[in-house]
Amino acid sequence: MESNVRVRFAPSPTGPLHIGGVRTALYNYLFAKKHNGTFVLRIEDTDQTRYVANAEQYIIDALAWCNIPFDEGPGRNEKLGPYRQSERKEIYKKHATLLVETGWAYYAFDTSKQLDAERKGHEAKGKNFIYNWHNREKGRLVNSLVLSDEEVETKMKAGENYVIRFKTPQDEILRMEDEIRGNITIDTNTLDDKILFKGDGMPTYHLANIVDDHLMEISHVIRGEEWLPSMPLHILLYKAFGWDAPKFAHLPLILKPIGKGKLSKRDGDKLGFPVFPLAYKNEISGDLSRGYKEEGYFADGFINMLAFLGWNPGNEQELFSLEELTNSFELKRVSKSGAKFSPEKASWFNQQYMQTKENSELTDLFIPILEEKGIYQTNDFILKVVSSIKERAIFIKDFWELSSFFFENPQEYDAKASKKNWKEGTPELMNDLIGLLETIQNFSSENTEKEIKKWITDKEIGFGKVMQPLRLSLVGALKGPHLFDIIEMIGKEATIKRLENAITKL
Ligand code: GLU
Repeated sequence: MESNVRVRFAPSPTGPLHIGGVRTALYNYLFAKKHNGTFVLRIEDTDQTRYVANAEQYIIDALAWCNIPFDEGPGRNEKLGPYRQSERKEIYKKHATLLVETGWAYYAFDTSKQLDAERKGHEAKGKNFIYNWHNREKGRLVNSLVLSDEEVETKMKAGENYVIRFKTPQDEILRMEDEIRGNITIDTNTLDDKILFKGDGMPTYHLANIVDDHLMEISHVIRGEEWLPSMPLHILLYKAFGWDAPKFAHLPLILKPIGKGKLSKRDGDKLGFPVFPLAYKNEISGDLSRGYKEEGYFADGFINMLAFLGWNPGNEQELFSLEELTNSFELKRVSKSGAKFSPEKASWFNQQYMQTKENSELTDLFIPILEEKGIYQTNDFILKVVSSIKERAIFIKDFWELSSFFFENPQEYDAKASKKNWKEGTPELMNDLIGLLETIQNFSSENTEKEIKKWITDKEIGFGKVMQPLRLSLVGALKGPHLFDIIEMIGKEATIKRLENAITKL
C-alpha cells in the first residue's frame, strides 16, 4: 500500500545534471521506495535567464539510465501537476498576493540604483545592509509598508517595477530540525526580507518551492547542503501560510578527490573522469562533457558508488543492489560532513560489478567492438574469451586489449620480454615443439598441457625455457590467461603458425 511519504527531486534545468544532483535524486528515490512512498520529479524552471532547452530531457534520461524512475512528474501520473513550474505561474501569483493581504509580505519599488546606494552608504559606515526590520520602515526604502495604499496603487498603475518581499518577523529565535543535522536555531533578526515574487510575473525559487512542496503534499524535503541557508525562510513561509512544514534533510557536499572544495566539472576534466551521468553537448558552445554511461560504467555499479558518497550501511558490506540499498537506506546514516569523491573507487565498483554480470550479457557488449574491427566469431567462442578475461577487466573497452590474441596473430612482440626469453637455441627448440604439436590430435587444454609438459620433462630442460617463448609467440607478450586454454581456443593450425611467425620474426 502507498504510504504518505512523498519526496521530490526538484532540479533546475540549467544544464547537465551533476553527480551530486544524481545522488540527491537517488537518496530521494531510496527513501521513497523504502517507505512505500512516492518519488516526484519537479522541474524548477522559473529562472528564465538560466533555462536550457535540452536540460529537462537530459534529467529524465539520466534518471532512466540510473534505473531510478520517478512516479509522478512531467508527462507521468500528473495527479498533482503540472510538475513544471513555468506552467504554474498563476498559482504563485495568487499565493504571493495572499501573503501581502495577510501582512506577511509587502510590495517594494526600490530600484537597483537605490539599493546600491543603500549598500554603499552602509559600507561607508562599516556596516552590512540587510533589507529587513532594521531599515524597511525608516522611509528611505520605497515599499508598501511606508507608502499609503493610494501611493502604491499609483505606482502600480504607472507601471513601476516592483517585487514582493517577505516580511521576516523580528526578534524571534527560530528552532528547526534537520533529519541529518539535528537541531538548528537562528535569530530571525539576521535574515533579510527575501524577494518572493518578481516584477516579471515570476516567483523566486523560495516561494515556488514551498508552495509546490505543500500543494504536491511533500512529506520530506531531501536536498543538497547548499539549500540549508534557505531553510529558515522556508519554515517561516510555511508558518505564514498556516501550513505544516515537511521534514527537512540536507545532504553533505560531494568533495574533490583531494577532500577540499566542492567537486566540479573542472576537476573531472583535469583528472580525467566524468562528473555527469550521461555525456552532454552544450548547444551554444558546442562543448562536449563526458558521461559515466558513455565511458563504459555500469549503471548499477555507478549507483552503488554514488550511494556511498555520504551514506554508509554501518557494516563492512560495500556491494549493494538497488533493492538492497532501498532496504538499508536510512537518513540517520547520512553523514553531516562532505564526502570525498574517488575516481579509483568508481573504477573499483565497476570492476566488481563486471564480475557479477552474466557472461552472455558481456558477450553481447563485446560483439560490436569486435565487429568494428572486422572480427566475426561464434558467440560460443566469444563467451569463452569473456569468461577467461573478465576478472582482469574494469570496463568492456578493456576487453580487446586483454584478449586480442584470441582473435588475431600477434602484431608485434614485447621487446623487453623478447630480449630476456628469446635466446640462442630458442628457434630450434620451438621448431622441435612444432614437430611435437603436429603429432597431437586432441588439442584440448588438458591434453596439450600434459603432452607438452611431458615433452619438456623428457628433454630434461627447464619449463621456462619453453613456456616463456611459447607464450611470447602466441600472445606477443608475457601476459594473458592460462596458456593451454589459449592453445585450445586458437587451435592447432594457429598455434603452429604463430610459432613459425615468431621463429622468422624474432
Ligand atoms: N531547484 C533547486 C535546485 O536546483 C531545488 C532545491 C530544493 O530541492 O529545494 O537544486
